[in-house]
Amino acid sequence: MSKIILTGDRPTGRLHIGHYVGSLRRRVELQNSGDFDEIYIMIADAQALTDNFKHPEKVRSNIIQVALDYLSAGLDPAKSNLFIQSQIPELTELTFYYMNLVTVARLQRNPTVKAEIQLRSFENGIPVGFFTYPISQAADITAFKATTVPVGEDQEPMIEREIVRKFNSIYGETLVEPEILLPDNEASMRLPGTDGKAKMSKSLGNCIYLSDDEETVRKKVMSMFTDPGHLQVSDPGKVEGNTVFTYLDAFVEDGDFDNFLPEYKNLDELKDHYRRGGLGDVKVKKFLNNVLQERLTPIRERRKEYEKQIPYVYDILRQGTEAAEAKAAVTLDEVRASMKINYFDDKELIGAE
Ligand code: ATP
Ligand code: MG
Repeated sequence: MSKIILTGDRPTGRLHIGHYVGSLRRRVELQNSGDFDEIYIMIADAQALTDNFKHPEKVRSNIIQVALDYLSAGLDPAKSNLFIQSQIPELTELTFYYMNLVTVARLQRNPTVKAEIQLRSFENGIPVGFFTYPISQAADITAFKATTVPVGEDQEPMIEREIVRKFNSIYGETLVEPEILLPDNEASMRLPGTDGKAKMSKSLGNCIYLSDDEETVRKKVMSMFTDPGHLQVSDPGKVEGNTVFTYLDAFVEDGDFDNFLPEYKNLDELKDHYRRGGLGDVKVKKFLNNVLQERLTPIRERRKEYEKQIPYVYDILRQGTEAAEAKAAVTLDEVRASMKINYFDDKELIGAE
């Protein structure tokens, strides 16, 4: 069986370091591993509109921002199809058929849907489109017969596997059950915001963006939330729940201590010193800043180049979208045949030669 990746992001803002550790970094690794036959990376504008339907300009302008972030982070259009969700009507049709397979109660119980609803204050109630977005997510994944879906923890308890099983058991083996691939590092599952809030999120304004310049990143790091009980350098400090250490957990690689803080061998030593007391926040933050700049500088530089070639970037999206639609159309034909709604293709039904 082919190995196929599908994943994506909502064009509600530029991408941030939470996206990077939660999914983007892994995608680039998987892309370059050569282990996958097809890769589809989706800019989920139709999903973004479910809670931003009053702000089409916001969604429209962020398509290019997300595409620039993709290319700068290392997604390669020669290996990955970068495409725009709304331009593939097959996805909408699949969503419509899958709606029959899910109960309202099942969606209401979904912890992700609950949490996402809580994040947004829908003053006039929850739009049906938003409420059903996990169903459209199932359509996105299954349309490409994805076997692997690399995402952050907030996307995990979704219902696509249930939909696949139910569809296959009613209509016959048609859809592929995907594997959800979470980050292998606990801190990267759901990176907190610079304000210490549970999740870095475009909608909460607590982000370090991949496209932030060097000085902006430095300022954001230096004003980050740490342990409120760690007032003097000599005070013992807490590492758990301390956002600066969580970011280090997510970002530190071999070599970072040698390069930027050679008096410590590794993160465990640094943490021990902080816990004992005698290690100041400023020193830890400066280290984090160095580590982040090292990761972000090449991304930032590539972005500057792509920013000069906007028509070329749209061309990449157009080509990726064409390839994605061709694939989704094949799946949709199979789905229609399984559901017995392929009337005009069915010679037996029509009785014609
Ligand atoms: P929005 O606020 O519009 O929902 P978002 O910042 O939550 O935006 P999404 O486009 O919903 O971003 O998520 C894209 C991908 O990034 C998903 O795989 C999600 O799991 C992952 N992701 C988003 N935020 C984080 C985070 N703070 N830590 C780890 N992964 C994250
Ligand atoms: Mg989100």
